[in-house]
Amino acid sequence: MPALADNFGRTFHYLRLSVEDACNFRCVYCLPNGYEKRETEPPLSVDEIRRLVTVFAGMGFWKVRLTGGEPTLRRDIVDVARAVAAAPGVRRVSLSTNGYRLAELAPDLLGAGVRSVNVSVDSLDPARFQELTGHDKLPTVLAGIDRCLALGFDAVKVNVVLLRDVNDGELERFLEWTRETPLSVRFIELMQTKTDGDFFTRRHLKASGLVERMVEAGWAETAREPGDGPARRFSKPGHRGEAGVIAPYAADFCSSCNRLRVTSRGRLRLCLFAESETTLRPWLASDDRLPELEAKIREWIGRKDVSHYLPEGRVGDVRNFAMMGG
Ligand code: SAM
Ligand code: SF4
Repeated sequence: MPALADNFGRTFHYLRLSVEDACNFRCVYCLPNGYEKRETEPPLSVDEIRRLVTVFAGMGFWKVRLTGGEPTLRRDIVDVARAVAAAPGVRRVSLSTNGYRLAELAPDLLGAGVRSVNVSVDSLDPARFQELTGHDKLPTVLAGIDRCLALGFDAVKVNVVLLRDVNDGELERFLEWTRETPLSVRFIELMQTKTDGDFFTRRHLKASGLVERMVEAGWAETAREPGDGPARRFSKPGHRGEAGVIAPYAADFCSSCNRLRVTSRGRLRLCLFAESETTLRPWLASDDRLPELEAKIREWIGRKDVSHYLPEGRVGDVRNFAMMGG
């Protein structure tokens, strides 16, 4: 099958699949009031996920990230991971998680074929971690990260959203963590959503300022590798780990876009900040409908915009990233 390409010459090989929109954390920039149930139908079943990923893999998608919400809230997350990893053509399965069940799940996830994990840790100070997430769980999350490192996952990444006058003073502490620990700490620039305009104005920190601080501290940008996401990567002599910066407001962010998103209820989103999505679920009910599913995705990709238009002030229809997999 030919690879999936859009009208701007971009080809796609990376599927970000939300498998659960619910979350038990209340991150201040994502679900400050906690998860509110809006969906009436159940999340995609393991069989529906298997069919979905089989079709995407047939179109050249070799990298799949399981995300949410909090994917580990699903009791069958290991079965989901196994079904995704078994799809012919899938070469890398990763998981984004808040880490609260990671220590317990890590061996089974690895056994199911998950090779890399991204764990959100917005503070290394237990009290601030609790303020930011609503949970006194920093030691539990760190234990999950240690377990993944000990088990030999290919990549263990830590996602940090730095917020002005909240946790931005911890930049150096996060970087220092990589001196002895072979993990990748990635600083994500806060993105505005439909409902958080005031918070964004108060707390947004430009990624360019972070990069300046890192360069001053002796970090140097490294070359990109095939399959890399939009993160700019940095290393420093003497550090076993590395750092990354994800700067969605950078001018060329969309030109290297290689990803599509599917929500936990099977809706295809062409961009995190799109203003529409289309359901794929009717075609996921049986194996014999998969050719129609492929035709639907190939038709829909023609509608993908060249940019997310974030710098122009567009925020899309997303109330929070937990809705559809950040
Ligand atoms: N619950 C999992 C977690 O926190 O890693 C997976 C889902 S979460 C929506 C995925 C990532 O999106 C997390 O690293 C989180 O910090 C990030 N995120 C959520 N809202 C964001 C926002 N407004 N701006 C930037 N990153 C955001
Ligand atoms: Fe939950 Fe992740 Fe959103 Fe935090 S960022 S509230 S852990 S979905």
